[in-house]
Amino acid sequence: MAFWLIDDHTPGYGLMLRIDRTVYSEQTPYQHLAIVDTTEFGRALVLDGIIQTTVADEFIYHEMIAHVPLFTHPQPRHVLIIGGGDGGTAREVLKHSSVERIDLVEIDASVVNACRKYLPETACAFDDPRVNVIYGDGVEYVRQRRNLYDVVIVDSSDPVGPAVELFGREFYSNVYACLKENGVFVAQTDSPTFSKDLFQRVYHDIKSIFPVTMVYLTCIPSYITGFWSFTLGSKSYHPLKDFREDPEVETRYYTPQLHQACFVLPKSIEKLLAE
Ligand code: SAM
Repeated sequence: MAFWLIDDHTPGYGLMLRIDRTVYSEQTPYQHLAIVDTTEFGRALVLDGIIQTTVADEFIYHEMIAHVPLFTHPQPRHVLIIGGGDGGTAREVLKHSSVERIDLVEIDASVVNACRKYLPETACAFDDPRVNVIYGDGVEYVRQRRNLYDVVIVDSSDPVGPAVELFGREFYSNVYACLKENGVFVAQTDSPTFSKDLFQRVYHDIKSIFPVTMVYLTCIPSYITGFWSFTLGSKSYHPLKDFREDPEVETRYYTPQLHQACFVLPKSIEKLLAE
């Protein structure tokens, strides 16, 4: 039976998606999980009522969270993904021939299982022998590991439920320690307009830890406000000065020109980050 899903971030604002069919749903030990067929965006993963990934525009988010840090590091071999249970980020990381191994730490096995079954176009990466899925809490994982990764990508849900601590300063400090000497880190850091306080606090936390800290933006139509941010922290490499290209990496959205342009911020956001 068709119905309207309201993905609301505040009592006064929400994103409405018409749902034609609920394909699968489960109350997991961590969150409510649903796979739905939407009228406009095709099949989608929804966690605790929040749109995570849709067939229509997932490539935008997954390409931008993966290729910007991977083209900033000259030779990414070992990559850690925290979250990423739909597999889309891992799929993009695997396009880089230098990558030898991806450790993907996902707290909820039900997400991986449901995406493997119902969203094969994003979950195809899980069949690659270079991908090592670890079911556990990303907060704990980085607390216990040092000097292991060239790139860490935090592809988490929004700061609700199990993801709250993935937006904390202690977590970012442990990510720093988990990275090798010249490591690069990126996290999805929510809407810079709608989650202003979070976005600003996270930026300053990361900036207090990483010598190179930069925000980049993109537009993801199925996300609330559409306007979305990523925050990159790097121990040494600079995303614009050390940027490299590899025409072998096939993409649908990311381009070398966009890599350079996405770091150009509107004055209002520069001002917010300068405060
Ligand atoms: N692309 C989506 C987005 O931008 O919102 C998110 C991708 S993925 C679905 C987010 C994943 O983070 C979920 O599968 C969730 O279970 C996982 N997650 C949340 N908190 C976590 C934690 N503390 N450790 C590991 N994974 C976590």
